[in-house]
Amino acid sequence: MDQPIGNIYIVVAPSGAGKTSLVAALLQAEPSVELSISYSTRQARKGEIDGQHYHFVDRSVFDAMIARGDFLEWAEVYGNCYGTSAPWIRGRLAVGQDILLEIDWQGAEQVRKVFPDAIGIFIAPPSIEELERRLRGRDTDTEEVILRRLASARAEIDKIAEYDYIVVNDDFERARLDLISIVRAQRLKSAPQCRRLAEMLRRMGTAAAK
Ligand code: 5GP
Repeated sequence: MDQPIGNIYIVVAPSGAGKTSLVAALLQAEPSVELSISYSTRQARKGEIDGQHYHFVDRSVFDAMIARGDFLEWAEVYGNCYGTSAPWIRGRLAVGQDILLEIDWQGAEQVRKVFPDAIGIFIAPPSIEELERRLRGRDTDTEEVILRRLASARAEIDKIAEYDYIVVNDDFERARLDLISIVRAQRLKSAPQCRRLAEMLRRMGTAAAK
């Protein structure tokens, strides 16, 4: 794939850390960042819309997509398959679009092999006890599933140092502002700014104008 102009943000978090709500709040504040809609073999939950939350497909369609090389990455998470569309990502990056992938740690590792400049963000709960409290509070999972999610959370937190940014979700508003700050700071980095501001710099007659 060509070197992207847009940024790729990869947001990873243990389940129960509040990733989905935080990402939704980020996308609302920064509409220029576009969410990648994954393909998934799991059943749609109540209220989920095909094509909006996921592209829901059955296993045979998913396997055919793997065989065609349609996925930038894919992984099995809690017994279901999830994957990111390579053609969609390629198309959006080609036009300079910033994109956000809300995927698991296995997917994050695969994406960073293809795009080493992708920005990894880990959303951490303030403690394992708080994570457990939130998982139990959702009242959707069996005891076995809760224990499995807690074990996964510990394994995911073991790899926290591999991410570029860590946001602790102890206070939603602060975590939301942290996420927004990451996106804004990234946008202000000098290399993309020089490209964006080329016309202004040219008018200033500076050597920085490309
Ligand atoms: P859920 O079924 O609760 O929506 O998602 C379960 C897990 O799968 C979450 O950690 C979510 O981030 C992850 N996930 C969602 N889409 C993808 C994807 O395209 N690729 C990978 N590797 N993980 C994904």
